[in-house]
Amino acid sequence: AEIALNQARIESLAIATYLQGEDERYLRELMIIRDLPIAISQGQLHLVFQPKVDIHNNRCNSAETLIRWQHPQLGFIPPDEFIRLAENSGNISMISDWVLNATVKQLALWKAQGIELKVAINLSAYDLTNAQLPGDIKQLLADHDLPIEALSIEVTEGAVMKDAQTVIAVLQQFKGIGIAIAIDDFGTGHSSLAYLKLLPVNEVKIDRSFIKDIHTDATDLMIVDTSIRLIKGLNLSVVAEGVESTEGIDILRRLDCDIVQGYVYSKPLKADDFAIWFNQFSQANMAAKLEDTVK
Ligand code: C2E
Ligand code: MG
Ligand code: MG
Ligand code: MG
Repeated sequence: AEIALNQARIESLAIATYLQGEDERYLRELMIIRDLPIAISQGQLHLVFQPKVDIHNNRCNSAETLIRWQHPQLGFIPPDEFIRLAENSGNISMISDWVLNATVKQLALWKAQGIELKVAINLSAYDLTNAQLPGDIKQLLADHDLPIEALSIEVTEGAVMKDAQTVIAVLQQFKGIGIAIAIDDFGTGHSSLAYLKLLPVNEVKIDRSFIKDIHTDATDLMIVDTSIRLIKGLNLSVVAEGVESTEGIDILRRLDCDIVQGYVYSKPLKADDFAIWFNQFSQANMAAKLEDTVK
């Protein structure tokens, strides 16, 4: 009887601990949802930029914008976490608007400094049901004297699946005005092939999960090799996400991958640090080219 009683105590303790964990998670989510609008008005959000490098000529002329949120109590909140909550609570268009405006402002600043760069922003499923968005973006770029090619968008297969008909119509509009579209996290969604045929896509980004062990895992190598052939066979440009080693670059170059994005070149950087990285990378590249011609 004693043992049974102890067992029951242990179980109730386990449940209590579990509930406490659940409560904490729930409270955290509530706080995040409550504080998102405040984060915007109080300047707690900022952007970081990660270079995308063309591995055929070792040049960087594009980057991806990623959002960061430093919460006054909770600290750094990963975008994967708060973007999902913003989507669920109907706050995502507020975030996307902020990202869009901040990105375009930065592009205009860089242009004034002689840094000509194309930047991709991530859009959510909900953004892609907004038929006004392509026109708004076109106007915003024009207002800042930026060419339409300065901005491109990244969307996941999952985002397209939500409401395929509407989303495809909006994507067609983006294509119509000259904004390039990338499929993000390729290989992790549900649909892949049918959508690649149907969507007005320019670029496909192979998900990091297939890339990260490419130098040691034969299965991943096989998957990436085949994906690259498929994507290039469709005349689309191919990006490998999350490359962390120079070995990875060598393998991807051999597989005829076009563009690499990953820590091997740089982590996502704040605008000023990105400009420094960009200038150094471009100069190092020019120096190498010069050396080649002298040889
Ligand atoms: P994503 O669009 O697939 O972005 C790539 C993620 O991989 C980024 O994580 C980036 O920091 C990370 N990454 C890049 N290279 C490496 C690498 O070599 N190693 C490792 N371990 N990671 C690498 P991050 O910034 O945490 O963003 C996560 C996701 O959150 C993004 O995935 C995107 O889905 C979402 N997200 C970020 N910013 C935004 C935004 O402004 N709007 C929307 N809607 N979603 C965003
Ligand atoms: Mg992305
Ligand atoms: Mg991705
Ligand atoms: Mg992702």
